Amino acid sequence: MNRERSSAAYERAKAVIPGGVNSPVRAFKAVGGVPVFVDSAEGCRLTDVDGNVYIDYVMSWGPLILGHAYPAVIEAVQRAASKGTSFGAPTEAESELGELVVDMVPSIERVRFCSSGTETTMSALRLARAATGRDKVIKFSGCYHGHGDSFLISAGSGALTLGAPDSPGITAGTARDTIVVPYNDLDAVRAVFEREATAIACLIVEPYAGNMGLVLPQPGFLAGLRELASTHGALLIFDEVMTGFRVAPGGVQEREGVLPDLTTLGKVIGGGLPVGAFGGPAALMDLLSPVGKVYQAGTLSGNPLAMAAGIATLRVLREPDVYPRLAAAAARYIEGLDEVFERYDIPHQVAQRGSMTGFFFTKTPVIDLAGAKTADVEFYADFFHAMLDRGVYLAPSQFEAGFLSLAHDEVAIDATIAAAEEAVLSLMAAV
Ligand SMILES: *Cc1c(COP(=O)(O)O)cnc(C)c1O
Repeated sequence: MNRERSSAAYERAKAVIPGGVNSPVRAFKAVGGVPVFVDSAEGCRLTDVDGNVYIDYVMSWGPLILGHAYPAVIEAVQRAASKGTSFGAPTEAESELGELVVDMVPSIERVRFCSSGTETTMSALRLARAATGRDKVIKFSGCYHGHGDSFLISAGSGALTLGAPDSPGITAGTARDTIVVPYNDLDAVRAVFEREATAIACLIVEPYAGNMGLVLPQPGFLAGLRELASTHGALLIFDEVMTGFRVAPGGVQEREGVLPDLTTLGKVIGGGLPVGAFGGPAALMDLLSPVGKVYQAGTLSGNPLAMAAGIATLRVLREPDVYPRLAAAAARYIEGLDEVFERYDIPHQVAQRGSMTGFFFTKTPVIDLAGAKTADVEFYADFFHAMLDRGVYLAPSQFEAGFLSLAHDEVAIDATIAAAEEAVLSLMAAV
Protein backbone atom coordinates (compact mmCIF):
# COMPACT_ATOMS: atom_id res chain seq x y z
CA MET A 1 0.00 0.00 0.00
CA ASN A 2 1.40 3.34 -1.03
CA ARG A 3 1.31 5.97 1.71
CA GLU A 4 3.64 8.59 0.21
CA ARG A 5 1.27 11.48 0.70
CA SER A 6 0.67 10.51 4.33
CA SER A 7 4.44 10.50 4.85
CA ALA A 8 4.77 13.94 3.29
CA ALA A 9 1.81 15.24 5.29
CA TYR A 10 3.37 13.89 8.49
CA GLU A 11 6.69 15.68 7.81
CA ARG A 12 4.81 18.91 7.11
CA ALA A 13 2.72 18.55 10.30
CA LYS A 14 5.75 17.85 12.50
CA ALA A 15 7.25 21.19 11.51
CA VAL A 16 4.40 23.12 13.11
CA ILE A 17 2.58 20.76 15.53
CA PRO A 18 4.36 18.81 18.32
CA GLY A 19 4.78 15.27 16.98
CA GLY A 20 2.60 16.24 14.02
CA VAL A 21 -0.64 15.49 15.90
CA ASN A 22 -3.13 17.30 18.12
CA SER A 23 -3.78 14.30 20.36
CA PRO A 24 -0.95 11.88 21.17
CA VAL A 25 -2.63 8.51 20.38
CA ARG A 26 -2.94 9.54 16.72
CA ALA A 27 0.84 9.46 16.32
CA PHE A 28 1.27 5.64 15.94
CA LYS A 29 4.03 5.82 18.55
CA ALA A 30 2.98 2.50 20.11
CA VAL A 31 2.89 0.62 16.81
CA GLY A 32 5.56 2.48 14.84
CA GLY A 33 5.32 3.87 11.35
CA VAL A 34 3.63 6.89 9.83
CA PRO A 35 0.11 7.92 10.88
CA VAL A 36 -2.51 7.65 8.16
CA PHE A 37 -3.65 11.14 7.12
CA VAL A 38 -7.36 11.06 6.34
CA ASP A 39 -8.98 12.76 3.39
CA SER A 40 -12.59 11.70 3.92
CA ALA A 41 -14.81 9.02 5.40
CA GLU A 42 -18.23 7.57 4.78
CA GLY A 43 -20.11 4.81 6.57
CA CYS A 44 -17.55 2.44 8.09
CA ARG A 45 -14.74 3.39 5.70
CA LEU A 46 -11.91 5.91 5.81
CA THR A 47 -10.10 7.15 2.71
CA ASP A 48 -6.57 8.43 3.24
CA VAL A 49 -4.79 11.18 1.31
CA ASP A 50 -3.18 8.56 -0.97
CA GLY A 51 -6.59 7.17 -1.89
CA ASN A 52 -6.31 3.97 0.19
CA VAL A 53 -9.56 2.79 1.78
CA TYR A 54 -9.81 1.21 5.25
CA ILE A 55 -12.62 -0.35 7.26
CA ASP A 56 -12.54 1.73 10.42
CA TYR A 57 -12.76 0.34 13.96
CA VAL A 58 -11.64 3.56 15.64
CA MET A 59 -14.58 5.70 14.49
CA SER A 60 -13.01 8.88 15.83
CA TRP A 61 -12.43 7.00 19.14
CA GLY A 62 -16.11 6.44 19.76
CA PRO A 63 -18.37 9.32 18.73
CA LEU A 64 -19.49 7.98 15.35
CA ILE A 65 -21.99 5.34 16.41
CA LEU A 66 -24.09 5.92 13.27
CA GLY A 67 -21.06 5.79 10.95
CA HIS A 68 -19.06 8.51 9.22
CA ALA A 69 -20.90 11.33 7.43
CA TYR A 70 -24.33 10.02 8.43
CA PRO A 71 -26.73 11.96 6.16
CA ALA A 72 -29.17 13.15 8.86
CA VAL A 73 -26.27 14.43 10.98
CA ILE A 74 -24.58 16.23 8.09
CA GLU A 75 -27.87 17.84 7.06
CA ALA A 76 -28.57 18.97 10.62
CA VAL A 77 -25.12 20.57 10.89
CA GLN A 78 -25.47 22.27 7.51
CA ARG A 79 -28.90 23.61 8.41
CA ALA A 80 -27.59 24.94 11.73
CA ALA A 81 -24.48 26.47 10.13
CA SER A 82 -26.56 28.39 7.61
CA LYS A 83 -28.23 30.17 10.54
CA GLY A 84 -24.95 31.22 12.16
CA THR A 85 -22.24 29.23 13.90
CA SER A 86 -22.21 30.65 17.43
CA PHE A 87 -24.12 33.29 19.36
CA GLY A 88 -22.93 33.25 22.97
CA ALA A 89 -26.61 33.41 23.91
CA PRO A 90 -28.98 30.53 24.63
CA THR A 91 -30.71 28.60 21.86
CA GLU A 92 -33.65 26.19 21.98
CA ALA A 93 -31.42 23.45 20.59
CA GLU A 94 -29.63 23.26 23.96
CA SER A 95 -32.92 22.49 25.72
CA GLU A 96 -33.82 19.94 23.07
CA LEU A 97 -30.57 18.01 23.52
CA GLY A 98 -30.89 18.48 27.28
CA GLU A 99 -34.37 16.93 27.25
CA LEU A 100 -33.07 13.95 25.28
CA VAL A 101 -30.25 13.44 27.81
CA VAL A 102 -32.58 13.71 30.82
CA ASP A 103 -35.00 11.32 29.19
CA MET A 104 -32.39 8.73 28.22
CA VAL A 105 -29.91 8.69 31.13
CA PRO A 106 -31.54 7.33 34.31
CA SER A 107 -29.68 9.39 36.94
CA ILE A 108 -29.72 12.78 35.19
CA GLU A 109 -32.30 15.47 36.05
CA ARG A 110 -30.22 18.47 35.03
CA VAL A 111 -27.39 18.61 32.53
CA ARG A 112 -24.75 21.19 31.60
CA PHE A 113 -23.07 21.13 28.19
CA CYS A 114 -19.45 21.92 27.42
CA SER A 115 -17.12 21.10 24.53
CA SER A 116 -15.04 18.06 25.52
CA GLY A 117 -14.95 15.06 27.81
CA THR A 118 -12.02 16.56 29.69
CA GLU A 119 -14.09 19.56 30.71
CA THR A 120 -16.87 17.33 32.06
CA THR A 121 -14.69 15.39 34.47
CA MET A 122 -12.88 18.52 35.68
CA SER A 123 -16.23 20.20 36.30
CA ALA A 124 -17.80 17.15 37.95
CA LEU A 125 -14.83 16.90 40.31
CA ARG A 126 -15.13 20.58 41.25
CA LEU A 127 -18.84 20.11 41.89
CA ALA A 128 -18.22 16.99 44.00
CA ARG A 129 -15.64 18.85 46.07
CA ALA A 130 -17.98 21.78 46.56
CA ALA A 131 -20.92 19.55 47.47
CA THR A 132 -18.99 17.53 50.05
CA GLY A 133 -16.52 20.10 51.31
CA ARG A 134 -13.79 17.48 50.83
CA ASP A 135 -10.69 17.45 48.62
CA LYS A 136 -9.66 13.94 47.62
CA VAL A 137 -10.70 11.81 44.68
CA ILE A 138 -10.34 8.05 44.26
CA LYS A 139 -9.64 6.90 40.71
CA PHE A 140 -8.73 3.54 39.22
CA SER A 141 -5.45 2.77 37.51
CA GLY A 142 -5.86 2.48 33.75
CA CYS A 143 -9.05 4.55 33.72
CA TYR A 144 -8.80 7.70 31.64
CA HIS A 145 -10.84 10.77 32.45
CA GLY A 146 -9.37 13.27 30.02
CA HIS A 147 -6.23 15.31 30.51
CA GLY A 148 -7.15 17.33 33.60
CA ASP A 149 -4.33 17.43 36.16
CA SER A 150 -6.18 15.45 38.83
CA PHE A 151 -6.75 12.53 36.49
CA LEU A 152 -3.35 12.13 34.88
CA ILE A 153 -2.20 9.90 37.69
CA SER A 154 -2.02 6.27 36.51
CA ALA A 155 -4.21 7.20 33.57
CA GLY A 156 -5.18 5.13 30.54
CA SER A 157 -5.39 5.88 26.81
CA GLY A 158 -2.52 7.95 25.36
CA ALA A 159 -0.91 8.42 28.76
CA LEU A 160 -0.73 4.65 29.10
CA THR A 161 0.19 3.95 25.49
CA LEU A 162 3.11 6.34 25.68
CA GLY A 163 4.34 4.95 28.98
CA ALA A 164 4.02 8.26 30.80
CA PRO A 165 1.18 7.80 33.24
CA ASP A 166 2.36 10.61 35.46
CA SER A 167 2.79 13.71 33.38
CA PRO A 168 5.37 16.34 34.29
CA GLY A 169 3.69 19.66 35.01
CA ILE A 170 1.29 18.30 37.60
CA THR A 171 1.91 19.66 41.08
CA ALA A 172 2.69 17.44 44.04
CA GLY A 173 -0.38 18.86 45.77
CA THR A 174 -2.67 17.76 42.98
CA ALA A 175 -1.11 14.31 42.87
CA ARG A 176 -1.58 14.01 46.65
CA ASP A 177 -5.31 14.62 46.33
CA THR A 178 -5.71 11.77 43.82
CA ILE A 179 -5.73 8.30 45.28
CA VAL A 180 -5.27 5.48 42.77
CA VAL A 181 -6.50 1.94 43.31
CA PRO A 182 -6.69 -1.08 40.97
CA TYR A 183 -9.84 -1.51 38.84
CA ASN A 184 -12.19 -4.20 40.15
CA ASP A 185 -10.55 -4.11 43.59
CA LEU A 186 -13.31 -3.29 46.10
CA ASP A 187 -11.10 -4.22 49.05
CA ALA A 188 -8.61 -1.55 48.01
CA VAL A 189 -11.40 1.04 47.88
CA ARG A 190 -12.69 -0.08 51.27
CA ALA A 191 -9.20 0.26 52.72
CA VAL A 192 -8.91 3.84 51.45
CA PHE A 193 -12.23 4.74 53.06
CA GLU A 194 -11.18 3.13 56.33
CA ARG A 195 -8.02 5.21 56.30
CA GLU A 196 -9.40 8.59 55.29
CA ALA A 197 -13.18 8.48 54.80
CA THR A 198 -13.79 12.09 55.76
CA ALA A 199 -11.33 13.37 53.14
CA ILE A 200 -12.88 11.64 50.11
CA ALA A 201 -15.08 13.88 47.97
CA CYS A 202 -15.75 11.33 45.27
CA LEU A 203 -14.95 8.15 43.43
CA ILE A 204 -14.65 8.42 39.66
CA VAL A 205 -14.77 5.33 37.48
CA GLU A 206 -15.26 4.26 33.89
CA PRO A 207 -18.06 1.79 34.60
CA TYR A 208 -16.84 -0.25 31.63
CA ALA A 209 -13.17 0.67 31.35
CA GLY A 210 -12.37 1.39 27.71
CA ASN A 211 -9.07 3.23 27.90
CA MET A 212 -6.75 0.34 28.82
CA GLY A 213 -8.35 -1.85 26.19
CA LEU A 214 -11.85 -2.98 27.16
CA VAL A 215 -11.93 -4.20 30.76
CA LEU A 216 -15.30 -5.05 32.27
CA PRO A 217 -16.39 -4.76 35.89
CA GLN A 218 -16.58 -7.97 37.87
CA PRO A 219 -20.06 -8.84 39.22
CA GLY A 220 -20.76 -6.64 42.24
CA PHE A 221 -17.96 -4.14 41.62
CA LEU A 222 -20.12 -1.20 40.56
CA ALA A 223 -22.80 -1.93 43.18
CA GLY A 224 -20.02 -2.17 45.78
CA LEU A 225 -18.69 1.25 44.80
CA ARG A 226 -22.20 2.66 45.07
CA GLU A 227 -22.58 1.28 48.55
CA LEU A 228 -19.16 2.42 49.78
CA ALA A 229 -19.65 5.94 48.42
CA SER A 230 -23.09 6.25 50.03
CA THR A 231 -21.91 4.83 53.35
CA HIS A 232 -19.05 7.31 53.58
CA GLY A 233 -20.77 10.42 52.26
CA ALA A 234 -18.72 10.55 49.06
CA LEU A 235 -20.17 11.04 45.59
CA LEU A 236 -19.95 8.40 42.90
CA ILE A 237 -19.11 9.71 39.42
CA PHE A 238 -19.59 7.45 36.43
CA ASP A 239 -17.43 8.69 33.59
CA GLU A 240 -19.63 7.58 30.70
CA VAL A 241 -17.88 9.75 28.11
CA MET A 242 -17.16 6.56 26.15
CA THR A 243 -20.03 4.31 27.26
CA GLY A 244 -22.86 6.86 27.30
CA PHE A 245 -25.37 6.23 24.47
CA ARG A 246 -22.87 3.60 23.29
CA VAL A 247 -23.66 0.45 25.28
CA ALA A 248 -27.35 1.30 25.85
CA PRO A 249 -29.53 4.41 25.45
CA GLY A 250 -28.84 5.17 29.12
CA GLY A 251 -25.26 3.93 29.21
CA VAL A 252 -23.77 1.48 31.71
CA GLN A 253 -25.97 2.77 34.53
CA GLU A 254 -29.03 1.57 32.62
CA ARG A 255 -27.48 -1.79 31.69
CA GLU A 256 -26.16 -2.56 35.16
CA GLY A 257 -28.87 -0.87 37.22
CA VAL A 258 -26.39 1.06 39.36
CA LEU A 259 -26.98 4.80 39.56
CA PRO A 260 -24.16 7.28 40.14
CA ASP A 261 -24.54 10.73 41.69
CA LEU A 262 -22.93 12.46 38.73
CA THR A 263 -22.46 11.29 35.15
CA THR A 264 -20.06 12.65 32.56
CA LEU A 265 -20.82 12.29 28.86
CA GLY A 266 -19.00 13.03 25.61
CA LYS A 267 -18.17 11.35 22.31
CA VAL A 268 -21.53 9.93 21.01
CA ILE A 269 -23.49 12.86 22.46
CA GLY A 270 -21.85 15.19 19.92
CA GLY A 271 -22.27 12.91 16.91
CA GLY A 272 -18.74 13.82 15.79
CA LEU A 273 -18.79 17.45 16.85
CA PRO A 274 -17.22 18.69 20.10
CA VAL A 275 -19.71 18.15 22.94
CA GLY A 276 -19.32 17.11 26.53
CA ALA A 277 -22.02 17.06 29.20
CA PHE A 278 -22.31 16.32 32.88
CA GLY A 279 -25.42 15.86 34.91
CA GLY A 280 -27.13 14.53 37.98
CA PRO A 281 -29.93 15.33 40.42
CA ALA A 282 -31.25 18.90 40.36
CA ALA A 283 -30.19 19.55 43.96
CA LEU A 284 -26.57 18.81 43.06
CA MET A 285 -26.48 20.44 39.63
CA ASP A 286 -28.11 23.61 40.96
CA LEU A 287 -24.95 24.26 42.97
CA LEU A 288 -23.53 25.39 39.62
CA SER A 289 -23.33 29.04 38.70
CA PRO A 290 -25.52 31.03 38.02
CA VAL A 291 -27.92 29.31 40.50
CA GLY A 292 -25.18 28.34 42.93
CA LYS A 293 -21.59 29.32 43.55
CA VAL A 294 -19.63 26.60 41.72
CA TYR A 295 -18.19 28.28 38.66
CA GLN A 296 -18.19 26.51 35.31
CA ALA A 297 -18.43 28.12 31.87
CA GLY A 298 -17.47 28.00 28.19
CA THR A 299 -17.57 30.46 25.26
CA LEU A 300 -18.58 27.72 22.81
CA SER A 301 -20.53 25.51 25.28
CA GLY A 302 -23.82 24.38 23.74
CA ASN A 303 -22.61 25.44 20.31
CA PRO A 304 -25.52 25.28 17.83
CA LEU A 305 -23.70 23.11 15.26
CA ALA A 306 -22.65 20.67 17.95
CA MET A 307 -26.14 20.59 19.48
CA ALA A 308 -27.63 19.90 16.04
CA ALA A 309 -25.28 16.96 15.47
CA GLY A 310 -26.04 15.59 18.94
CA ILE A 311 -29.81 15.89 18.54
CA ALA A 312 -29.73 14.21 15.12
CA THR A 313 -27.60 11.37 16.52
CA LEU A 314 -29.66 10.71 19.63
CA ARG A 315 -32.87 10.76 17.61
CA VAL A 316 -31.61 7.90 15.46
CA LEU A 317 -30.49 6.04 18.57
CA ARG A 318 -34.05 6.18 19.91
CA GLU A 319 -35.41 4.26 16.93
CA PRO A 320 -36.32 0.63 17.64
CA ASP A 321 -33.75 -2.14 17.09
CA VAL A 322 -30.72 0.14 16.85
CA TYR A 323 -28.90 -1.26 19.89
CA PRO A 324 -29.56 -4.92 19.05
CA ARG A 325 -28.24 -4.27 15.53
CA LEU A 326 -25.11 -2.62 16.88
CA ALA A 327 -24.52 -5.47 19.33
CA ALA A 328 -25.03 -8.10 16.64
CA ALA A 329 -22.44 -6.43 14.41
CA ALA A 330 -19.95 -6.21 17.26
CA ALA A 331 -20.53 -9.86 18.20
CA ARG A 332 -19.93 -10.98 14.61
CA TYR A 333 -16.65 -9.01 14.59
CA ILE A 334 -15.27 -10.04 17.96
CA GLU A 335 -16.37 -13.68 17.65
CA GLY A 336 -14.79 -13.79 14.21
CA LEU A 337 -11.48 -12.50 15.58
CA ASP A 338 -11.72 -14.87 18.54
CA GLU A 339 -12.09 -17.86 16.18
CA VAL A 340 -9.12 -16.80 14.06
CA PHE A 341 -6.83 -16.33 17.09
CA GLU A 342 -8.08 -19.64 18.52
CA ARG A 343 -7.46 -21.51 15.25
CA TYR A 344 -3.81 -20.42 15.19
CA ASP A 345 -3.18 -20.83 18.93
CA ILE A 346 -2.56 -17.17 19.57
CA PRO A 347 -2.97 -16.40 23.28
CA HIS A 348 -5.75 -13.84 23.54
CA GLN A 349 -8.73 -12.46 25.48
CA VAL A 350 -11.79 -10.85 23.96
CA ALA A 351 -14.51 -8.65 25.44
CA GLN A 352 -17.64 -6.97 24.14
CA ARG A 353 -20.52 -4.91 25.48
CA GLY A 354 -22.91 -3.51 22.88
CA SER A 355 -20.83 -2.01 20.09
CA MET A 356 -17.72 -1.66 22.28
CA THR A 357 -15.12 -4.37 21.73
CA GLY A 358 -11.64 -5.26 22.85
CA PHE A 359 -9.01 -7.94 22.52
CA PHE A 360 -5.71 -8.49 24.29
CA PHE A 361 -2.87 -10.71 23.17
CA THR A 362 -2.35 -12.46 26.51
CA LYS A 363 -3.35 -15.76 28.08
CA THR A 364 -4.15 -13.96 31.36
CA PRO A 365 -7.80 -12.94 31.90
CA VAL A 366 -7.76 -9.16 32.15
CA ILE A 367 -9.63 -7.52 35.01
CA ASP A 368 -7.30 -4.59 35.71
CA LEU A 369 -4.32 -2.62 34.43
CA ALA A 370 -1.77 -5.16 35.66
CA GLY A 371 -3.57 -7.82 33.61
CA ALA A 372 -3.78 -5.56 30.55
CA LYS A 373 -0.06 -4.98 30.76
CA THR A 374 0.65 -8.68 30.34
CA ALA A 375 -0.44 -8.27 26.69
CA ASP A 376 2.16 -8.75 23.95
CA VAL A 377 2.37 -5.20 22.59
CA GLU A 378 4.96 -6.13 19.97
CA PHE A 379 2.66 -8.74 18.49
CA TYR A 380 -0.14 -6.19 18.57
CA ALA A 381 2.00 -3.72 16.62
CA ASP A 382 2.76 -6.36 13.99
CA PHE A 383 -0.88 -7.39 13.77
CA PHE A 384 -1.97 -3.74 13.53
CA HIS A 385 0.32 -3.11 10.54
CA ALA A 386 -0.62 -6.38 8.86
CA MET A 387 -4.28 -5.33 9.15
CA LEU A 388 -3.59 -1.77 7.99
CA ASP A 389 -1.89 -3.15 4.89
CA ARG A 390 -5.04 -5.21 4.25
CA GLY A 391 -7.34 -2.20 4.53
CA VAL A 392 -8.43 -2.44 8.17
CA TYR A 393 -7.85 0.48 10.51
CA LEU A 394 -7.59 -0.72 14.13
CA ALA A 395 -6.64 1.49 17.06
CA PRO A 396 -2.90 2.17 16.91
CA SER A 397 -2.44 0.77 20.42
CA GLN A 398 -3.20 -2.45 22.28
CA PHE A 399 -4.72 -0.38 25.10
CA GLU A 400 -7.77 1.01 23.32
CA ALA A 401 -11.29 -0.27 22.70
CA GLY A 402 -12.66 -0.91 19.21
CA PHE A 403 -15.94 0.63 18.06
CA LEU A 404 -18.55 -0.50 15.58
CA SER A 405 -21.31 1.60 14.06
CA LEU A 406 -24.61 1.09 12.29
CA ALA A 407 -22.59 1.25 9.07
CA HIS A 408 -20.54 -1.87 9.85
CA ASP A 409 -22.44 -4.38 7.72
CA GLU A 410 -21.77 -8.09 7.35
CA VAL A 411 -19.75 -7.58 4.18
CA ALA A 412 -17.34 -5.23 5.94
CA ILE A 413 -17.08 -7.39 9.04
CA ASP A 414 -16.52 -10.59 7.09
CA ALA A 415 -13.83 -8.86 5.02
CA THR A 416 -12.21 -7.80 8.30
CA ILE A 417 -12.17 -11.36 9.63
CA ALA A 418 -10.71 -12.65 6.36
CA ALA A 419 -8.03 -9.96 6.60
CA ALA A 420 -7.30 -11.01 10.19
CA GLU A 421 -6.73 -14.60 9.11
CA GLU A 422 -4.39 -13.48 6.31
CA ALA A 423 -2.62 -11.14 8.72
CA VAL A 424 -2.06 -13.90 11.27
CA LEU A 425 -0.79 -16.28 8.59
CA SER A 426 1.62 -13.65 7.29
CA LEU A 427 2.98 -13.04 10.80
CA MET A 428 3.41 -16.76 11.43
CA ALA A 429 5.22 -17.16 8.11
CA ALA A 430 7.57 -14.32 9.06
CA VAL A 431 8.75 -16.01 12.28
C1 LIG B 1 -12.38 10.18 25.69
C2 LIG B 1 -12.61 10.14 27.17
C3 LIG B 1 -12.46 11.29 27.97
C4 LIG B 1 -11.92 12.58 27.44
O1 LIG B 1 -12.74 13.18 26.50
P1 LIG B 1 -12.10 14.29 25.51
O2 LIG B 1 -13.27 14.73 24.71
O3 LIG B 1 -11.04 13.59 24.73
O4 LIG B 1 -11.55 15.37 26.36
C5 LIG B 1 -12.80 11.20 29.31
N1 LIG B 1 -13.26 10.06 29.83
C6 LIG B 1 -13.41 8.94 29.10
C7 LIG B 1 -13.94 7.70 29.74
C8 LIG B 1 -13.07 8.95 27.75
O5 LIG B 1 -13.18 7.81 27.04
